Amino acid sequence: MDINYVQTTCPYCGTGCSFNLVVKDKKVIGVAPYHRSPVNEGKLCPKGNYAHEFINSPDRLTTPLIKKNGKFEPATWDEAYDLIAKKFKSYKPDEMACLASARVSNEENYAMMKFARGVLKTRHIDHCARLCHASTVAGLAASFGSGAMTNSIGDIAQSKCVFVLGSNTFEQHPLIGRRIVQAHENGAKLIVADPRFTPTAKQADLYMAFVSGSDVAILNGMMQEIIRNGWEDKEFIKTRTKDYEKLKEVVMKDAYSLENVSKISKIPVAQLKTAAEWFAKAESACICYSMGITQHTVGVDNVKSTANIQMLTGNLGKAGGGVNALRGQNNVQGACDMGALPVVFTGYQKVIDEAAHKKFSDAWGFPDGICEAKNGYEVTTMMDVLADKPGELKAMYIMGENPMISDPDLHHVEKALKTLDFLVVQDIFMTETAELADVVLPAACYAERDGTQTSTERRVQMWRVAQAPPGEAKVDWQIFCELAAKMGYAKQFPWKSAEDIFTEIAKVTPSYGGMNYARLNRPEALHWPCPTVEHPGSPILHIGRFSHPDGIGVFTPIEWKPPAEVPDAEYPYVLTTGRCLWHWHTGTMTRRSDSLEREEPTGWIEMNPEDAKALDIKDHEMVRAMTRRGQVNVPARVTKDIMKGVMFMPFHFKECAANVLTNNALDPVAKIPEFKACSVKVEKIKEGK
Ligand code: SF4
Repeated sequence: MDINYVQTTCPYCGTGCSFNLVVKDKKVIGVAPYHRSPVNEGKLCPKGNYAHEFINSPDRLTTPLIKKNGKFEPATWDEAYDLIAKKFKSYKPDEMACLASARVSNEENYAMMKFARGVLKTRHIDHCARLCHASTVAGLAASFGSGAMTNSIGDIAQSKCVFVLGSNTFEQHPLIGRRIVQAHENGAKLIVADPRFTPTAKQADLYMAFVSGSDVAILNGMMQEIIRNGWEDKEFIKTRTKDYEKLKEVVMKDAYSLENVSKISKIPVAQLKTAAEWFAKAESACICYSMGITQHTVGVDNVKSTANIQMLTGNLGKAGGGVNALRGQNNVQGACDMGALPVVFTGYQKVIDEAAHKKFSDAWGFPDGICEAKNGYEVTTMMDVLADKPGELKAMYIMGENPMISDPDLHHVEKALKTLDFLVVQDIFMTETAELADVVLPAACYAERDGTQTSTERRVQMWRVAQAPPGEAKVDWQIFCELAAKMGYAKQFPWKSAEDIFTEIAKVTPSYGGMNYARLNRPEALHWPCPTVEHPGSPILHIGRFSHPDGIGVFTPIEWKPPAEVPDAEYPYVLTTGRCLWHWHTGTMTRRSDSLEREEPTGWIEMNPEDAKALDIKDHEMVRAMTRRGQVNVPARVTKDIMKGVMFMPFHFKECAANVLTNNALDPVAKIPEFKACSVKVEKIKEGK
């Protein structure tokens, strides 16, 4: 029997667990532990355990498809490339937009970024980080000079107080949850604030149920309590930060007394007091947050508030401290690092910076230049422009993303995408977005390619080929090379391997400058920044100085603002959305995994028993959830594990898609939508209706 074990990195969440793919007769048949990974030490959550099941699904795309008279017909690669090249050449640069992907490798995101800015010469490239952690990138960059998780995953176990805010870590990043358990076992206090009594909240020493959207008020209130009691780290504030007095002026306002914060958040005063005391007095305290913080119209404010409290208490640049922004998808950190954003090239080098623009223009050597040195559209802006200004954007190229399930206000998204003159989707399955395409290109999945991905803790780890792609599917970077050659740019895409691309990335990206495949090909891999080949990598950021040019951290005074939509007589409940343990994002992969689908075969709306009673709704009963954007029929789940007045829906399920309901109101800086709070009404479905 021909069995091999190929070590790789999990394609689901941003934790970056490693495992072995079990390969028999050149096909992946299972997952086996890889004990040497320092991230997960051989352990996996259910998604990782079953990460082989979708790979050989009969639904995999195996040939290019071209839509003719409304129906897809198989085509050769040459036919598909010829059509795409002809259409792309017919548009002006800024009439085209690209969506890269948090699911594919760094090399492939780099390839698409170079293709967009160099071949198409468009400014408009973005990806789904816009929908999850754009607020982190903007908020932490403003506070610390670097928009990434400050400490490593293993370091969380060193903490003496872990404050989990806006993250159901035990279900969404279970192997990070394991480090929180270790910290707890070592004596750390665990504080969890969440509108739902999640499995994470159930482990807490202090659980604070709060109204979604009151994060800034809570953090300001805690900071006021810390300052009133003299628990702030005066030395850290003096030597490492600026604008403390401005912060103090705001947080010491009567509006942020614990009594007033309690009114806004519904957290009892005594709990707020205890949280402030535990957090400030701990020898080291970290914050772990996720989309509960970022997915708001005040997402950047929320992130800056977490930075404020950590600078106030001196919990940065040290073990057991930090602002741990837990990134969602496997390579969302890497896709940002690779410049798949409308404002930066790789390593956050600004597009509008003339020197950076010249650097990339020179390095790439396109004889007719690259895109203008101007910022492009965010994905949320692209959808608005498509829907509201038909004809401004005419073509899109989407790789490995499914906005028809993942984006807010799906009716709006569908209307937007249908205005396109030409849509190319490159993916491993026929997604809801691919259904709308003119051309669909079949791509290889994570088990069918070499490459790197960068986890939430900035650790750059490897994928390795375990089997060949099905049918005629190709790795994404190869598709970009071949298409670029068709469009006259073969010289600029000379790569023969993923390693060739990584070598180019390292040359133009200071934070990856000291990395190469030989250094990454070991269990611990490397954390960026790693500027030289002698550099050991940086598990903890901001030791001794922040990443701003002057090395100083910046306090930002933030006033609390309510969500864009608040409950009223017509829509009396708050709807918040998220993920569940068994499924991932738009369900494209996990819903094709029998073991995962069996556990959670459809979506639901969660409500408190008092709300259910008032609405005459029973557990498991089908109900209708309605917002100002649309309505869905969905089974009710009645549970005491959610606050009265709040409803929750997971967004993975197309048959009851939560994002039909969500609000496209955006944070003004990060342009991230407010997935975590909108107003909803729910009713029983009466017979015959
Ligand atoms: Fe994969 Fe995340 Fe689970 Fe680890 S915790 S096995 S990375 S889904």
